[in-house]
Amino acid sequence: MAEKITPSVPHVELNNKTRIPQLGFGVFLVDPPEAQRVVTDALELGYRHIDTAAIYKNEEGVGRAIAASALPREDLFITTKLWNTDQGKDTTLPAFEASLDRLGLDYVDLYLVHWPAPQRDTYVESYRVLEGILDSGRARAIGVSNFLIPHLERLLAETGVVPAVNQIELHPYYQRRDLVEFGRSRGIHTEAWGPLSQGKSALLEDPMITAIAAKHGKTPAQVVLRWHIQRGIIVFPKTTSRARAAENFDLFDFELTPDEQAAITNLERDLRLGADPLEVN
Ligand code: NAD
Repeated sequence: MAEKITPSVPHVELNNKTRIPQLGFGVFLVDPPEAQRVVTDALELGYRHIDTAAIYKNEEGVGRAIAASALPREDLFITTKLWNTDQGKDTTLPAFEASLDRLGLDYVDLYLVHWPAPQRDTYVESYRVLEGILDSGRARAIGVSNFLIPHLERLLAETGVVPAVNQIELHPYYQRRDLVEFGRSRGIHTEAWGPLSQGKSALLEDPMITAIAAKHGKTPAQVVLRWHIQRGIIVFPKTTSRARAAENFDLFDFELTPDEQAAITNLERDLRLGADPLEVN
């Protein structure tokens, strides 16, 4: 497929007025030595939002790609995440500073508590440290990932800053309607991880998806990503292939009809493919 630069990625305004490109690029399972090349490809293709995490061990490669791109810092939106073993009132800040160091940045756009890790019982005190980081200007927004409603309720009750986002596993086979709706009602924007179901299901061969794709002359992956976008969800599909990265960015020259959106929504099968947030500690 020919590469095509589409400059018009829509932005979403988060609850503290920070604007985030609704389509980004994820780097989970991108090998550290490959990260710089993969992120350089993404930036060249027009992606400006990169989603990494300390545990992905590729923040340095992301940082090198950013530095080499010479793009103005304010044109980029960089997210990273606090790993579970770094949670705690004394360990969160050094972990954040180590991430900044590896990224070679003075600030990140979004910093997330990666998992609630409920058995540790430290996500509230960790999030309070994130509030201080937000205050210091070294994160433009803060939020959480893999939080379930009870974890969000506790955070809302015991801390002062409403998380800007909750980043959760989300795809047509696993739609988390209650959790997405809870977030919406509280000003917490949902980000989808595994938006293509991580290649772990037959989603991209689903006859409904392939039929809609054929009608639009687009690929199944483009149709699924477009479904997320039209629902207002923030996505950052991952691939190490430049051709697929170009394909996943090329979502803005077609639109799914309300019937097509509904047909995809009807594919729900409550199929969690990733870890259970209650069990990751
Ligand atoms: P994904 O749904 O983006 O799937 C990635 C896989 O889909 C790739 O490995 C590739 O095999 C396939 N793929 C990508 N583009 C394709 C295309 N055009 N056609 C066919 N197949 C294609 O899953 P993901 O990487 O797990 O999720 C995206 C991002 O979300 C991650 O890179 C990471 O940044 C984030 N994430 C966060 C968490 C968390 O706990 N917060 C967990 C997992 C992922």
